[in-house]
Amino acid sequence: MKVCRSCSAYNRDERTHCVDCGERLGAPLQGEEAQRLEEQLKTKTARLWDGEDPLRITPFDFVVGILSLLAVATGGLLWVFGLVAEGNVVLIISGIILGFFGALECLVPRLMWELEEMRLSLFTHDATPFAGYALLRRIMEGVCLLASVICIALSVFR
Ligand SMILES: [Zn+2]
Repeated sequence: MKVCRSCSAYNRDERTHCVDCGERLGAPLQGEEAQRLEEQLKTKTARLWDGEDPLRITPFDFVVGILSLLAVATGGLLWVFGLVAEGNVVLIISGIILGFFGALECLVPRLMWELEEMRLSLFTHDATPFAGYALLRRIMEGVCLLASVICIALSVFR
């Protein structure tokens, strides 16, 4: 296996130029290093096939995502029709933002991970979503939805 110096893509031994960025490739990796990479690649592929990819959208994510969008829509409609009690603007805005954030986390996890990766890049160069990230994501989705619904519901009361 050859690893591109420029973009770190994996390439087959017989390739002379990187499949991803076209950079000229050096000699194939040998011995232990090649084996280690081979293993790493296998684990990654297996995780994708097993559906263990922490960024996969599960039916749970989908349902919570739709509910979050419904909460956002309800909050928006309540506000537009003047049903939000006076002095509760911060509450309704919080509810809408929380619902929207939760919906993004549910429905476009890859985008959210890119953002997280950007934040992590301040501390590390090798950010990979760990298995616990999937659980963390689901907890966050649930908390966002719950907080969003509570904020929106409370905003109609004085
Ligand atoms: Zn490359």
